Amino acid sequence: MARIVMKFGGTSMAGIERIRNVAARVKREVEAGNEVAVVVSAMAGETDRLVGFCREAAALHDTAEYDVVVASGEQVTSGLLAITLQAIGVPARSWLGWQLPIRTSDAHSTARIGDIDTTAVLADMATGRVAVVPGFQGVTDDGRVTTLGRGGSDTSAVAVAAALKADRCDIYTDVDGVYTTDPRIVPKAKKLHSVTFEEMLELASVGAKVLQTRSVELAMKEKVKVQVLSSFTDAPGTFVVDEEEGVEQELITGIAYNRNEAQVTVTRVPDTPGVVAHIFEPLSAANINVDMIVQNVARESGHTDVTFTVPRTELARAMDELTKAKDTIRYSALEAVDNVCKVSVVGVGMKSHAGVALTMFKALGDRGINIKAITTSEIKISVLIAEEYTELAVRVLHTAYGLDDTSEPAGVAA
Ligand code: ADP
Ligand code: ASP
Ligand code: MG
Repeated sequence: MARIVMKFGGTSMAGIERIRNVAARVKREVEAGNEVAVVVSAMAGETDRLVGFCREAAALHDTAEYDVVVASGEQVTSGLLAITLQAIGVPARSWLGWQLPIRTSDAHSTARIGDIDTTAVLADMATGRVAVVPGFQGVTDDGRVTTLGRGGSDTSAVAVAAALKADRCDIYTDVDGVYTTDPRIVPKAKKLHSVTFEEMLELASVGAKVLQTRSVELAMKEKVKVQVLSSFTDAPGTFVVDEEEGVEQELITGIAYNRNEAQVTVTRVPDTPGVVAHIFEPLSAANINVDMIVQNVARESGHTDVTFTVPRTELARAMDELTKAKDTIRYSALEAVDNVCKVSVVGVGMKSHAGVALTMFKALGDRGINIKAITTSEIKISVLIAEEYTELAVRVLHTAYGLDDTSEPAGVAA
């Protein structure tokens, strides 16, 4: 007998028919003799709808109350799955974040999981009941509801698996594994049989939303066995593994893109030591993450321009903070562009190969795609481009690095 955590995403939970399909998969694992905890997302589109209500109510709103609103989507699906399981003869009950409880920090809307009390849930599972846990939500020490950031149900699933000391954590979604790039954009994307934690972490952090970045970090730290697979087919999925587990290392693992980017340029700031710190201090104080940074060569006048990116969802706040700090930074103007996209190439093999960046720049240049900013790490190169070229850039790079799979189309659910 194994103890397993099964996580089902939004598309898999979208409506009663699909929840019945999920229940049937859970039943199969229970009948195979496994002890099962299920972590569920809200129905596809529901969290967006709830976020929309909060924005409509007030553009700048209390994130503690935002959490109360957006956590409700998962409450609905956890109850519905428990009902559906019971209806097919599988004993089940829901365990909301505050009931387990899943303790988190009080950073509302981006809370981090602390610990999970498993005493009661384990005792209940030992009686043969399936535990259904809403993903994405937790509770602070003083009893307030929190959420973990968009895509956070993956992290809930890995955290629950770690706390329950589960034998594995199966992430069921609407594609049948991790591909060399988003198979919705590149039908010739290749499914990976396995991917290392390091590569998956890098792919997730630059936009491959198939797994939330924090879930990969946590799985790596807690040594949770993670597998990504489809709710809709029985195709073999992708295992996320340690580097030592002997995966064949390709030069390039994959390509990801992130449209949640906005570019800010601060023009004509004095080119003196400390000026960049003056720009980033107010942003950091406001908890706004700065990603790509380019400082232009100083103009003759002893002034320079600094360009950087922030999450598009934070652009208004970033502009507000920089406007308030105008006297300290001493810039002449602020420029914001929000129709940009970051495209990244990731691969552990880059550590030991030259010329990887050149292939990228040439492939984009040949298609007339202009690069606005560049950043690199040991195993990643990212470029900022105009958003309208996103699909083209991803396809062109996928071909340029020889990643196209012509044998079979990707397994993608509608
Ligand atoms: P869920 O609701 O199940 O959590 P998500 O929408 O969060 O699903 O993540 C699955 C989606 O991730 C896929 O539908 C796919 O479009 C996208 N995706 C982006 N990059 C990749 C990749 N490299 N491999 C697989 N899917 C990817
Ligand atoms: N429902 C949440 C979201 O859409 C969490 C998740 O699905 O992982 O972001
Ligand atoms: Mg997701």
